[in-house]
Amino acid sequence: MQRVQQLRPLLPKGHVTYYKDQLLIVKGEKQFLFDSNGKKYLDFFGGIVTVSVGHCHPKVNAALTEQAQKLWHTTSIYHTEPIYEYAQKLLGKFPSKLNTVFFVNSGSEANDLALALARNYTGRFDVISMRNGYHGMTQTVLGATNLGNWKPVFPHGFNIFKSLNADPYRGIFGGSNCRDSPIQVKNRKCGCAPGVCEASDKYIEQFEEMLLHDFSHSSGPAAFLIESIQGVGGTVQYPHGYLKKSYEAVQKRGGIAIADEVQTGFGRLGSHFWGFESQGAMPDMVTMAKGIGNGFPLGAVVTTKEIADSFNKSLYFNTYGGNPLASVVGKAVLEVIEEEKLQENCAVVGDYFLKQLAALDEKAIGDVRGKGLMIGVELIDEQGKPLAAAKTAAIFEDTKNHGLLIGKGGIHGNVLRIKPPMCITKQDVDFAVDIIAKSIKQFK
Ligand code: PMP
Repeated sequence: MQRVQQLRPLLPKGHVTYYKDQLLIVKGEKQFLFDSNGKKYLDFFGGIVTVSVGHCHPKVNAALTEQAQKLWHTTSIYHTEPIYEYAQKLLGKFPSKLNTVFFVNSGSEANDLALALARNYTGRFDVISMRNGYHGMTQTVLGATNLGNWKPVFPHGFNIFKSLNADPYRGIFGGSNCRDSPIQVKNRKCGCAPGVCEASDKYIEQFEEMLLHDFSHSSGPAAFLIESIQGVGGTVQYPHGYLKKSYEAVQKRGGIAIADEVQTGFGRLGSHFWGFESQGAMPDMVTMAKGIGNGFPLGAVVTTKEIADSFNKSLYFNTYGGNPLASVVGKAVLEVIEEEKLQENCAVVGDYFLKQLAALDEKAIGDVRGKGLMIGVELIDEQGKPLAAAKTAAIFEDTKNHGLLIGKGGIHGNVLRIKPPMCITKQDVDFAVDIIAKSIKQFK
């Protein structure tokens, strides 16, 4: 890895890279990556949830290369077939009221545009986002990103209010067994019967109280922006009913509920195509990126015609959004998800994965959570406190040395984040669980 060490100073210091002993990846195929020494890795992080249908999927590759021979770019000032064909296919995945799409190039850009639309439509400025949420890095959405290590010193965001994190494991009201999960949770922190969650109602009471205090003299918030399950924050899955009730509290006051589906969308949760559906909630706007393009820079905002058209008060333009290459890739990704039944695979293999992790007899595993192939394993020390970040990092480095790539996150850096390409098998899960168990045992 001498070459990586030589080249690293060309990138800024703050640029996030994983591993002490860094990887130079040269090839990807399905759920596998290969480094410059030819070593093969099982990729259980998929470029942070991005490689949805597998690295270098032949159908996606074919769509891209075929389009590249015909037409790369015009900007939206001329019409092209691919953007319309893709828009039609993508909108077919939404409830009928969400019938208009803006194409952009990343998740940050999608959330930035969503907030602009909500503010423009409502004529209001205030926004709510949840503590521990991640929504991207433009100067506006940085204000909605509420993780301490993503807070720069320069002014950002403006008028973004923070709601209490509805975290059933670490939060004050519990609710661990009231998450949608195939497993019973050990160390559960609420007294209610599985499926009936008082914690959710308590979190909603807090949310209502925040609305009362922060908006009693204003007309109300323009928007509430929330991930359907927190990703960077450590796979935090809210208790049953939380999303629906919090959306409704905002909508009742004339605000826009925005579902950030950048990590949770496209069937990854198994039971549903979108995370908000898994909580029976109905947003006014949905933002997406990452898995939408299997690695190609692409993002989108889907909303109602009425909200989208309110932007006619000022012009909207995006040079690359919905370009022909991105559009054919996005459409091919949706076709592969359908043809290879990848949502169903996430449900079956994800349930199996969660059960295998929950069955590990390991005291350092405080919580196993998630849904489908969006999984978190929270590590703790003997006092039940977050395992020291250095120990988590050693575990994480060790899994890599044994050929398994996973992510880490959470405000304490003690959550293993597992979000593989959606095509993995139960054999891959067995391989991974064995390595995770051994690495935890050795380095906890
Ligand atoms: N929203 C969520 C939930 C994310 O996880 C991310 C990226 N980690 C973003 C938005 C921002 O996406 P991007 O990095 O493409 O700007």
